[in-house]
Amino acid sequence: MARRAPRGSARPEAAPPALLWAPWRSAYVGQTPLGGADCIFCMGRIGAATRRRRLVLYAGRLALVMLNRYPYNNGHLMVAPRRHVASPELLTREERSELSEFVSRSVQRLRTAYRPAGLNVGMNLGRAAGAGIADHMHCHLVPRWEGDNNFMPVISSTRVLPQSLARTYALLEPLFKTIGADLS
Ligand SMILES: [Zn+2]
Repeated sequence: MARRAPRGSARPEAAPPALLWAPWRSAYVGQTPLGGADCIFCMGRIGAATRRRRLVLYAGRLALVMLNRYPYNNGHLMVAPRRHVASPELLTREERSELSEFVSRSVQRLRTAYRPAGLNVGMNLGRAAGAGIADHMHCHLVPRWEGDNNFMPVISSTRVLPQSLARTYALLEPLFKTIGADLS
């Protein structure tokens, strides 16, 4: 006998996969970064104050880790190459390597900081795929917990996060100090 979904519930497994990545689309709607100074991922050498202002947890030589200013969930991070490129195949092997290390190490640190039940890790390449900033590729890392998966607040962008960005930054920044210690 077929199992019936509870009436009126938005079961995550019943939602179209595309919805999973919908939050990223709303993150920077209205912004059309041109690269360079206009791109949130592009920055040269930055001091501690700028790093904090731009929510950068760690800036390596080839990649960086920063908080999403419009998080879908607490601890929503983005890992991006330092270079303004749109897609992973345009990266050098060295850049891909640092990016990949930062993704893995960020997952590890998010597990330590938040003890999430799961994480979404992924990239939207191109506007058609939902990228808010299509010209500078970036990987999203979002801690997930059971019960946070009602898609309605995601769609309507009205989700209220219990933890402020400042608090998230203060919590994570010490954990990320060493993320690139043995790289570049
Ligand atoms: Zn850029």
